Amino acid sequence: MTRILVAGETLIDFIPDASGSLASVESFSRRPGGAPANVAVALSHLDAPVSFWTRLGTDPFGDFLADFLADHGLTGEYVERDPNGKTTLAFVSLGEDADREFSFYRDAAADARLEPGTVDDDALSEFGWLHADVLSLDTDPSRTAVLDLLERAAETDTTVSFDPNARPERWTEFSYRESVQEGFALADVVKATPEDLEEAGLTGDAAELAREICTFGPHTAVITLGDAGAYAYATPDAPWTDGEELEATHGGYRVEPVDTTGAGDAFTAGVIAALSEGESLSEALAFANAVAAVTTTEPGAMTALPSRESVTAFSEDHAEH
Ligand code: ATP
Repeated sequence: MTRILVAGETLIDFIPDASGSLASVESFSRRPGGAPANVAVALSHLDAPVSFWTRLGTDPFGDFLADFLADHGLTGEYVERDPNGKTTLAFVSLGEDADREFSFYRDAAADARLEPGTVDDDALSEFGWLHADVLSLDTDPSRTAVLDLLERAAETDTTVSFDPNARPERWTEFSYRESVQEGFALADVVKATPEDLEEAGLTGDAAELAREICTFGPHTAVITLGDAGAYAYATPDAPWTDGEELEATHGGYRVEPVDTTGAGDAFTAGVIAALSEGESLSEALAFANAVAAVTTTEPGAMTALPSRESVTAFSEDHAEH
């Protein structure tokens, strides 16, 4: 079985108890969050052999997150605790027009204090798949640490996947656009939304976007399209092709979404789980759409992530759009 390493942040999302602008919301509920953490927990729910490299504060919020990760199978040496770091807090609003606003509290952020060297070459060689997110590149030392890990993985047979998750509020120190391009240059597989890519300066339909991503280096690009499912393109270099370029689409599943937070991360976990188990690109899209669709039917991101059994049952009961 391919062992998977996910690297990046875990934080606490404070979700509003009522909709409205962030300036107007009075009370919030605490939820574990962070895109890489969502992916790691989702993979664990899918019974994939996953490890998670993250760093938590030793503050009470860090205790809460450490307990949560442990309850979801993510323990061990790569879940670091940092007495000099504070757990990142992200306040999220749901505006009247359903647009989310974010306000991040990241002073001395523990998750940004990942340091190069934790995952040395020997440790890295145990993993056949590495997943990281552009958000780890927005400040140092996590930027240097994650780029170093990606660079070393890119020189080996380890498959590297990368998510250019756009959060414009986070990019005050480094350039999002340049960081996305640095990540693309080191990745084999990219999962993105058209909105992320527009923020990164790429426009076009899904087929054009996927092909453009591959010009930066990846052999596979997957574009998620909300309730319309996903599109994927792979160059002849991708191991899941038979030496010719390949396209795959899956129209998504018809559900009544309650909360789409984390759907993209659930989708990413579905793609990684399926491709690392040797499924075809189109099977991976179908599986990932099912994982993501189930996630939208419950409130919350991590708390809604489904087990493999529930995904299988869901796919049998639901038709593609
Ligand atoms: P998020 O930021 O909310 O995690 P995203 O914006 O990164 O998500 P989307 O393309 O909106 O990404 O959604 C990711 C995947 O989630 C889709 O490809 C699809 O599989 C699933 N999904 C999202 N919304 C719906 C929906 N309304 N019905 C069914 N599936 C959905």
